[in-house]
Amino acid sequence: MMAMEDRPRRDVRPRWAPRVPRDRVRRLYESVARGLIDEALIDDVGIRLYLRCKSILTVQEIRSHRRLPCPSCGQTIALTVPWPDDESALHCPSCQWTMAWADYWATFRHQELGPGGAADIFADYAKEWEAATTPRDKILAIDRVIHRWHWETREERPSFGLGRPSAVNLIEGSRKDVIAFLNCLSYGDGSPGEATANRDAWRERWQEVKDNQARWHAQRAERLRRPGSAFGQDDSPGR
Ligand SMILES: [Zn+2]
Repeated sequence: MMAMEDRPRRDVRPRWAPRVPRDRVRRLYESVARGLIDEALIDDVGIRLYLRCKSILTVQEIRSHRRLPCPSCGQTIALTVPWPDDESALHCPSCQWTMAWADYWATFRHQELGPGGAADIFADYAKEWEAATTPRDKILAIDRVIHRWHWETREERPSFGLGRPSAVNLIEGSRKDVIAFLNCLSYGDGSPGEATANRDAWRERWQEVKDNQARWHAQRAERLRRPGSAFGQDDSPGR
């Protein structure tokens, strides 16, 4: 008979940090705008974002380096190469934790945990948060990570231009909700100058995204109008 500690531990599931509620971020910006330093609120938002970024970086590790931390003991588990199939099971050699790969995968997909073109932005925040010593450092680290766009840090933009706002990975709500939310955050005499600059840069890139989308829609409409085009035929069967 196996000793208790040698039994496969099937009961432990991976835990992913949730996105931050919008209300907390809104209150933080209101208090900063009024010149208040509410350290408990700063830490609450900052630590939630930190844990969220750590979860995203774990997903990044799975996708890029094919390894994950054992949810039970933290030991690194290497995935089979090239990629596990649905039937394969994850197994921790150190504590005997095990889970079907398909079940593990299901715990993080559709959770906005994919790093996309912003893995470096989330990694920078984790480093900045760990190094931040003053409330001002913390506020600015928070402000930077939520006012970014996927792919904006690449030297060359991908062909589709910029991607999603980083805040969609970090703050509750749809892409549309999050954009509207960021546009309504409070700024005032207490807001650091860098925060207003970050907001303005974020808005400029948002305009770039909107222009790109408008161009894409116009090109698509043009293709649809052109008789005999591949698009036209595809979209109008039987003509
Ligand atoms: Zn383990």
